[in-house]
Amino acid sequence: MARKAVKEETLDPENWAAMRDLGHKMLDDILDSLENVRNSPVWEPITENLLKRIGEPLPLEPQGPEKVYRDLCEIKETNRTTGPKHPRFWGWVMGTGNVMSGYADMIASALNASSQSSISWCYFVEAQVIEWCKEMLGYPKEASGVIVSGGSMANLVGLTVARNVKAGYDIRKNGLQSASRKMTLYGSSEMHSCLQKSVELLGLGDDSLRRIPVDRDFRMNIDVLEKTISDDREAGFHPICVIGTAGTTNTGSFDDLNKLANVCKRESLWFHVDGAFGAWAALSPEISHLVNGMEKADSLAFDLHKWMYMSYEVGCTLVRDKKAHYQTFALMPEYLAHDEKQPPWFSDLCFELSRSFKGLKVWMSLKEHGVRKYSRLIQQNVDQAQYLKKLVEETPQLELLAPVPLNVVCFRYKAENHDDESLNKLNARILERQWLNGNCMISSTMIGDKCALRACFTNHRSTREDIDFMVKEVIKLGNEIARNVNG
Ligand SMILES: *Cc1c(COP(=O)(O)O)cnc(C)c1O
Repeated sequence: MARKAVKEETLDPENWAAMRDLGHKMLDDILDSLENVRNSPVWEPITENLLKRIGEPLPLEPQGPEKVYRDLCEIKETNRTTGPKHPRFWGWVMGTGNVMSGYADMIASALNASSQSSISWCYFVEAQVIEWCKEMLGYPKEASGVIVSGGSMANLVGLTVARNVKAGYDIRKNGLQSASRKMTLYGSSEMHSCLQKSVELLGLGDDSLRRIPVDRDFRMNIDVLEKTISDDREAGFHPICVIGTAGTTNTGSFDDLNKLANVCKRESLWFHVDGAFGAWAALSPEISHLVNGMEKADSLAFDLHKWMYMSYEVGCTLVRDKKAHYQTFALMPEYLAHDEKQPPWFSDLCFELSRSFKGLKVWMSLKEHGVRKYSRLIQQNVDQAQYLKKLVEETPQLELLAPVPLNVVCFRYKAENHDDESLNKLNARILERQWLNGNCMISSTMIGDKCALRACFTNHRSTREDIDFMVKEVIKLGNEIARNVNG
């Protein structure tokens, strides 16, 4: 039978040579911008013009690769914000990213290979990276682990295992409806908001997450923790888990992880540690004592895109009890049948099924630079935070608002004849003006009732001169604004 001629379509380039040239140009542009990152503003405001450029109608017909890239370049020209890549960026807890991560993500995306199952070599690269993480963080070798998108997801994975193990019945089958007592969890008042989101998602409700007050160093008060657990037991609740923080977002403080581990052991509670960025203190001998006890955690959540400087997104959960981890997530419908004797697929260890090959950038970055260099960079950031702390203490117009155990400095501009409320406004205004100037960027938080300017050092590009510059800017802006307010 004569076949009718059909012209089938594909998304592959019509002109491979032109696509190759375009790719080379993109790579050149990327490297130009990274090499010269210092010369672009840290931040530029979002303008109407920018939103208009982005807000195009749905493209129904092909525009061609060159035009697509030209349009993107125009958008980037309209807003030249470098964000956390810039050496003078210290806002929130953001990652600087590294060049090799960009290459790795490009390769991972081009491979379009999922690292999900142990039939793919990518799986074994990711598994190796998890082995390396255990070794770097001093976590037991027998533990299992899974690479996820970031700290929030990593904490959710850990708390899910905690809930399922400690529920005391088959919660996967029967759900929370069958709980005879309400489960409760404990963390400090300084713990990250993703833990609240996690207990909400897990159906436990925000009320079940007890906020234990902190001491002057922003560490969980253990006496109050013990009392709260015992009060809860008496009132008929079912305590299941204590969450320790290794490096709080606000001030970089560490709960006493050894003491928390002891409480958990005595009370038969799951011990989860959120070490999003602070876990990496383990790499530097001068500060590794801060994470003592972290190795005793039943589950440990951390990021690699914050203080390991890799590009977004990549985080990881480690779980001491392999079997508990597997039993929390494993599910094998016919269409995903795999040999249970083989290493577990990553979908057996978290909610997600399809996954990108995020482990590749970890593998490539660690190999490129070596762990010793990461140790030095982490210590360099800690030293920079201590340098800023000293500058603040030596400058009469500035006031330190919290201890600096790690890499976060909370301080404020101070002026005569201003109460806390007016200083709060003044410091918020300083921040606003500093962002608009776009030559450096810190963020803010509240320390008690005081608005703090907050600098977090997870940046591998910063120098002391950058810190000097930022301090001068804060003082200059503070003086200007205070003068206007008074005059
Ligand atoms: C950033 C952070 C998180 C959340 O991590 P993401 O990677 O942003 O999802 C959790 N805990 C702490 C202490 C953090 O600093």
